[in-house]
Amino acid sequence: MTQKEQAIRTYASEQGFELCHFASAAKLTDEAVRLDEWLNSGKHATMHWMERNLERRLDPREIVPDAQSVIVLGFNYYTPYDHEESPESGKISRYAWGDDYHDVLKPKLLDLAKTLESEFSEHVFRFYNDTGPVMEKQWARRSQLGWQGKHSNIITRTHGSWIFLSAIITTLELAPETPHADFCGSCTACIEACPTQAIVEPYVVDSTKCLSYWTIEAKPDVQIPDNIAKDMDGWMFGCDVCQDVCPWNRFSKESGRTEFAPRELRTSLETSVVSNMTQEEFSARFRKSPIKRTKLAGLKRNAAELHKNVQRDCSSESSQNTQT
Ligand code: SF4
Ligand code: SF4
Repeated sequence: MTQKEQAIRTYASEQGFELCHFASAAKLTDEAVRLDEWLNSGKHATMHWMERNLERRLDPREIVPDAQSVIVLGFNYYTPYDHEESPESGKISRYAWGDDYHDVLKPKLLDLAKTLESEFSEHVFRFYNDTGPVMEKQWARRSQLGWQGKHSNIITRTHGSWIFLSAIITTLELAPETPHADFCGSCTACIEACPTQAIVEPYVVDSTKCLSYWTIEAKPDVQIPDNIAKDMDGWMFGCDVCQDVCPWNRFSKESGRTEFAPRELRTSLETSVVSNMTQEEFSARFRKSPIKRTKLAGLKRNAAELHKNVQRDCSSESSQNTQT
């Protein structure tokens, strides 16, 4: 690594990014084949935006002409709380306990881009954090920030998988790193633990089976299919099972970032509270929270399914008691 990359790493660290790596801005050729197979088999469910802008998604030079490099950044969001398990409540995915990471990271990325623009004044720096047609996970893998686990999330050796990824496409030439080795080995913990068998083969998640898709991305007026809803495992918004069981998350480090700590120290939502929530209450409670993405109607749908599961469990328990 030359002084140039070292300086960029320092600037990134000053903005709070623990991880900063570099890749060449080349076309994602192998990744294109896998993306094509995944899309053609309908595993993106109704996330049709993934089918759009494929040229740009697969080649950063379609976004920034003359792009030479991609700077890949990781931001730790781990806070040391556990999921609350209760039949009266639904669990929230860890990334959504606090503030929306888009809001938290945007000013940091803006400041970093400004610093880079003043330091390397002839060059362009365009940043993304899940905000455009950029495959951050693939850039993370290519730049040696981490590897893509069998659950399809990026894992790092230093921070596990509780990190937010961002990418900066630039015309500045930087020394590329080699792709990260895969350290999943013979482990299959995530595949075995998935409540809906959504990891259909190593490294392939079928969104049509994934609880994160159904509880966050599926439109609020779409019902969760019975075969998925019966295995919701108490999740109201998202699902962390495959990451919770991953042995590499033993290396998670407390970020100390209060903006990602659970609001009111709650990592779940009471289903009765959600069922009776008004739009005003929803807007006030989830202002600047990722949970607003699912809208009140989506959250109520999820709460209703969890409630049905609890009722089903109670009635099967009482019929077993009657038989004995
Ligand atoms: S998020 Fe949950 S449902 Fe989706 S693949 Fe992981 S464990 Fe399975
Ligand atoms: S649980 Fe095991 S197989 Fe799954 S991502 Fe983690 S290390 Fe890889």
